[in-house]
Amino acid sequence: MAVLRVSPGLLRAMADAAEAAFPNESCGLILGCAGPTPLAQCLVPSPNLSPEPRTQFEIDPALRLRLQRELRGTGQALLGIHHSHPAGAARPSARDLAGAWEPGLLWLITAVIDGQAVQTAAFRLGRQADRFEELVLCDDRAGPDPVRATPAWARMEPTNGT
Ligand SMILES: [Zn+2]
Repeated sequence: MAVLRVSPGLLRAMADAAEAAFPNESCGLILGCAGPTPLAQCLVPSPNLSPEPRTQFEIDPALRLRLQRELRGTGQALLGIHHSHPAGAARPSARDLAGAWEPGLLWLITAVIDGQAVQTAAFRLGRQADRFEELVLCDDRAGPDPVRATPAWARMEPTNGT
């Protein structure tokens, strides 16, 4: 099974975002270093723009565009997306699979039960885009801390699409 290294503190950051959004789904973008053993470094939270935020999520496309532009030439990349399942399991739903189309994009999912984040797992869409493969999460003690790894301009609070 492929391994995803995770900077210390990133799992906590995803759990915190998932709990803060409860009972809605949280969502955000995961930045890090690509490669044979990718390193996920930080979470850039997005407002959930879905009209049905309790059961669906929609990342702000303007935020994603801006991130991808700003990351050019930095060595950091958009590795994946994070969202929570406020009443579900830490694995992709049928709706997630239906909405996934980018091979290689990582999907990190945090399960929340009664307002408490209980588990985060990582998946990647297979080449045929017909199923997700799970990755093993591995805490990367040597990595930079997620706050410093987050570009300063991405640390501001997300606005609510106004
Ligand atoms: Zn989902």
